[in-house]
Amino acid sequence: MAALWPSRSLLAQVAAAGGELAAKTLTGGATTLTLADVEALASGLRGRLILPGQADYEGARRVWNAMIDRRPALIARCAAPSDVIQVVNFARERQLLTAVRCGGHSQTGKSTCDGGIVIDLSPMQSVRVDPAAQLARVEGGALLRHLDRETRTFGLVTTAGTVSHTGVGGLTLGGGLGRVARRFGLACDNLRSVDVVTAAGKLVTASETENADLLWGLRGGGGNFGVATSFEFALHPMDPMVLSGDLAWPYERAREVMRLYADFSADAPDELNMDLGTFKTPDGQMMIGSEVVWSADHAAGERVLKPLRSFGPPAIDTVRAVPYTEVQAQDDKFLENGIRDYRKSGFLLSIDENTIDALLETLRAAPPGLVRMTFQQSGGAIGRREVDATAFPNRDSRYWVALASSFKDPAEDEARIAAVRAAWKPIEPLTRGFYVNAMTEDMYARVDTNYGPNYARLAQLKSKYDPGNQFRLNANVVPAASS
Ligand SMILES: Cc1cc2nc3c(=O)[nH]c(=O)nc-3n(C[C@H](O)[C@H](O)[C@H](O)COP(=O)(O)OP(=O)(O)OC[C@H]3O[C@@H](n4cnc5c(N)ncnc54)[C@H](O)[C@@H]3O)c2cc1C
Repeated sequence: MAALWPSRSLLAQVAAAGGELAAKTLTGGATTLTLADVEALASGLRGRLILPGQADYEGARRVWNAMIDRRPALIARCAAPSDVIQVVNFARERQLLTAVRCGGHSQTGKSTCDGGIVIDLSPMQSVRVDPAAQLARVEGGALLRHLDRETRTFGLVTTAGTVSHTGVGGLTLGGGLGRVARRFGLACDNLRSVDVVTAAGKLVTASETENADLLWGLRGGGGNFGVATSFEFALHPMDPMVLSGDLAWPYERAREVMRLYADFSADAPDELNMDLGTFKTPDGQMMIGSEVVWSADHAAGERVLKPLRSFGPPAIDTVRAVPYTEVQAQDDKFLENGIRDYRKSGFLLSIDENTIDALLETLRAAPPGLVRMTFQQSGGAIGRREVDATAFPNRDSRYWVALASSFKDPAEDEARIAAVRAAWKPIEPLTRGFYVNAMTEDMYARVDTNYGPNYARLAQLKSKYDPGNQFRLNANVVPAASS
């Protein structure tokens, strides 16, 4: 049992330091927690409380992006909703800065903080599939690979992102683009119900029939309304094998390839997802290529893909029948946990000649090898919902485009960040809104305009479920003033 809680020696350290632990408040002010506070919290948890100085604190505070280096005062590893309720009450009563963590993949590190408390849901990763009802109940700390693995076992699927160590929590609450989103909608569109611990420490269920206003907000409104302890997703039958792979050409053909991509993807059937990116081969050759995923009948897919293959034979063609779960994990290593990453991104309504010119020119002007381009396709079922059907505001976008740099050496931070910022400058005016799940710090001031017509309703919901803005480490919605 002793291993479950902060070691006696650590509590002794707190005691020796005058019986207090330094912490930060919601507004960044200094506060202290007493030994009695910390002991009471630790002993009441089914999970663990991890404090600075403990052997596993260093590992527990790390998030996906190694550029984020924050030191929370407390990390509460929650094992159940009862833990979450207890920690939320503890944090609210003390006005502690509060972060909520699922997969830890927030680009700007919103799932951790300096001096506050982290509600770490990583012990809560169960997924229960009901094959007959075609539903999955997924705990709030689960990763995409847990969701995909359990659902695929039953020949079912729901939309998840493209890297399997990403968290279901953050991805779904902010929208959720993925390889089958054009066919089945965003991850958040597939939500049937969500259990949420609100700022008041109450566990509520949001569904179409119960707290429907909250379900609307959770479909794209991020972590603003509380801690989601579990999600229920609608599932869809899908062949375990998809037709997928890369079709790539030497970068010298970039203009033609981008035109092809723009034309072909604009009218693609929902069953086809095409992303586009620049990359380097192991022998250093710059390439531009599309990852295609056809998720329906393979013979039909071969026919659909034919024009892509006959556009000057691709230098790389790895398209074949492959298990969907394998495709879902194929980028895991490239974007592994602990990488350093800086990216700027936004949504595009189309790819016209002007956009192609601007992208090619900015990539040409960037320092060689520092900036890569990525397109993720949207449209299809995503775009067939009205903008106010859910909180997710970017329904009319057809592509998400990013300029990114991923690397390992901290000495390169400055040069890489500067290169991405400079390259993005001429592209940003061409975008129409941004994705709340992929923001840089400068974008947080524009959350309200980004949500557009949905913001006022989100602000009302925020004042209902989190009037004190306890959950502010996210694409933050300011509570509407009560009338
Ligand atoms: C390598 C990589 C690949 C990606 N690929 C895709 C992709 O294909 N499609 C896509 O749509 N996005 C993608 N993203 C973006 C991704 O959606 C966001 O980074 C998202 O925030 C990740 O969720 P998380 O749970 O891992 O993050 P975390 O850092 O744990 O959380 C992010 C935010 O969500 C909140 N949050 C998380 N879980 C909960 C919960 N249970 N209850 C309440 N609030 C919660 C946190 O408080 C925080 O504000 C990718 C990101 C990375 C780093």
